[in-house]
Amino acid sequence: LACLDVLGINTLKQGDTYFSVLTGNTTVLGEGSAFSAHSPIDGAKLSTFNNATAAQLDKVNAELKDAFKVLRTIPAPRRGELVRRIGDEARKYKNELAQVISLEAGKITPEALGEVQEWIDVCDFAVGQSRMLHGLSIVSERPGHRMMEQWQPLGPVAVITAFNFPMAVWAWNTMLGLVCGDPVLLKPSEKAPLCALAMYQIAQNVIADMPDIPKAAVSVMIGDRDLGEAIAASETFPLVSATGSTVMGRAVAKTVAGRLGRSLLELGGNNAMIVSKSADLDLALRAIVFSAAGTAGQRCTTLRRLITHESVVDGLVASLAKSYGSLRVGNPLVDGNLVGPLIDERSFDSMQAALETAKKQGGDVICGGERVTENVPTGGFYVKPAIVHIAHDAPIVHEETFAPILYVLTYSTFEEAIEIQNEVPQGLSSAVFTESMREAELFMAPAGSDCGIANVNIGTSGAEIGGAFGGEKETGGGRESGSDAWRNYMRRTTNTVNYGGDLPLAQGIVFE
Ligand code: NAD
Repeated sequence: LACLDVLGINTLKQGDTYFSVLTGNTTVLGEGSAFSAHSPIDGAKLSTFNNATAAQLDKVNAELKDAFKVLRTIPAPRRGELVRRIGDEARKYKNELAQVISLEAGKITPEALGEVQEWIDVCDFAVGQSRMLHGLSIVSERPGHRMMEQWQPLGPVAVITAFNFPMAVWAWNTMLGLVCGDPVLLKPSEKAPLCALAMYQIAQNVIADMPDIPKAAVSVMIGDRDLGEAIAASETFPLVSATGSTVMGRAVAKTVAGRLGRSLLELGGNNAMIVSKSADLDLALRAIVFSAAGTAGQRCTTLRRLITHESVVDGLVASLAKSYGSLRVGNPLVDGNLVGPLIDERSFDSMQAALETAKKQGGDVICGGERVTENVPTGGFYVKPAIVHIAHDAPIVHEETFAPILYVLTYSTFEEAIEIQNEVPQGLSSAVFTESMREAELFMAPAGSDCGIANVNIGTSGAEIGGAFGGEKETGGGRESGSDAWRNYMRRTTNTVNYGGDLPLAQGIVFE
């Protein structure tokens, strides 16, 4: 655990208990019940915290409001400089940060390094954006008038994150939020609290050298669902960005809407790939294995449904089963292992339950699903990724099971394939493998995929930060990261300026 010392996380505690409230000014223990986080690698205890409470949130809220008053007046390019330096600091500690991700989320080293790289990339993106918070100039219908719109800082933003992308999701929100002038409070998953402390420490190292930046601009509170609920209910946050299960998103959306706040939701996916009869099957095979078995099936964009043309299904499934047979499952910190552990026993149990249900619903398990106990650390829940041949309308296929189960479905016409792709309640990521321009275009057209992400000849997972990331339907409708997602973190004002000597009213109204 040397990485924790190098990152300075081990200074953020009292005795054996880590601080749960960290605002730059205040670092204190939580006042709620104690909990421990364990590594999925071997079940070892990594950390102990006390849950931060709603009463503690009230105090933090005051600090965040004060920080906002300062941050909103600092020129955006200077806020960009803050983010540039945070990116440099993340570059410096990339290996240690990746180790913390592996320890808490169980990611193999290359994927953990990729997640830190995503943080670094979004810093670069946000630095550029800090000089491009552009509004429009609009012609007025009135003589002697001019109109424009401006984008202004919004206020303190709360970010509630899931265990599986403990750094990237915070970075998408926080790096853009900071350049937009918003202090950001993170409530991480209770399964990955040390990642939150590592990010906090990196940002505070930078803020220590920038006395004009309010320290609470990057704050963290560690706590459970109760704390998440208190954050959603708090008027302090005009925006609550929440990533996690659809059940969580529904609860947050309802609470935030109840006080007419904005929520930015990134929820569950049930991602599909259509493999057409014209597909380059070698390319498809590689994309399927990474998308379906990578990260042990624990990405929101993990490939869960393979919609295969009936003429290619047998050959493709045979090749897939062969590839799955050679996938190395084991300790994510060991070079060459490609599939790490599931996050915990509960996740293993829900995978087993889904496989049982699939069988009852007519599914045929082609390979995988069993627990791996040899050549893996004891105490972790390692599994062989599973492939199940099943009907597209079996109810279990329409649910997200957060584990490596790939359902193989078949189709005969391309229109039918698109219908199958769209028939689930989730709408995050989708892909088609085809050499037919017509099929590719149809897939991306209005009557094609209904997802937020629709790819051609690449898999469903592994998005770049430059695009807007998110999905439709039960995935929540939010868009984060690239494109114009920065607008989420700002409020728009429309300004009409009269430089004439008269007062004409809009729509030609005469009022005299
Ligand atoms: P989860 O829903 O169990 O927890 C996510 C976060 O929400 C945690 O911080 C948790 O404490 C908090 N939370 C739970 N209930 C809450 C409530 N009622 N009010 C406020 N906060 C609450 O999710 P998880 O198991 O950590 O992550 C897996 C899920 O996240 C999967 O469904 C996956 O698809 C989804 N996910 C989506 C995206 C995306 O971008 N769409 C990215 C990553 C993960």
